[in-house]
Amino acid sequence: MKQRQRLSHGRRQLLHGIGFLPFAYLLGTWPDMNDAPAGEVLPTPACTDSGEPTPQQMEGPFFRPRSPERASLIEPGLPGTKLLLSGQVLSTTCEPVAGALLEFWHADNSGNYDLEGFRLRGHQYTDREGRYRLETIVPGQYPFRTRHIHVKVQAPRERILTTQLYFPDEPRNQRDFLFKPRLLMAMQDTDTAMTARFDFILKLS
Ligand code: FE
Repeated sequence: MKQRQRLSHGRRQLLHGIGFLPFAYLLGTWPDMNDAPAGEVLPTPACTDSGEPTPQQMEGPFFRPRSPERASLIEPGLPGTKLLLSGQVLSTTCEPVAGALLEFWHADNSGNYDLEGFRLRGHQYTDREGRYRLETIVPGQYPFRTRHIHVKVQAPRERILTTQLYFPDEPRNQRDFLFKPRLLMAMQDTDTAMTARFDFILKLS
């Protein structure tokens, strides 16, 4: 009996599969490929909703120029929860910006910045599709601020955008004097890391 149930279930699935595909094809109703399957982070609503560029924020006192070029800020023995941040640099007309410079810096797990070396500091360039990918840790918090990541973004031969990225569901967000919902990353936890997505929108000259 159990065997029969399994067979009939499998047959139902097969029939469903056969019936679905031509129907969808005729109606032009293929599944929306923009709907990310479970396990992938949805893109932040960006240039498609308003065309507004990513807002600027203050640089703050802890920026240091001449950081190393590297996509991973992870170093041996660095404590903290791993964070993978990725996204695209786009123009206000949604064109990917290739070769854009992204410079990241943020506090360590305890809320301290490295002011002597370049721990948790680095820069990288977008690829041909305007994509970037940063491997780092979740920054700690420090007095008077909510959790954040500093970043400078510059398309080739364009002005620098200096801004900060924020984490959703942080109790301090609502009390932070700089926090903007527009600068929230889209987050997803996985078993081994936190995954974040943010697309930068630049107004090009
Ligand atoms: Fe800061």
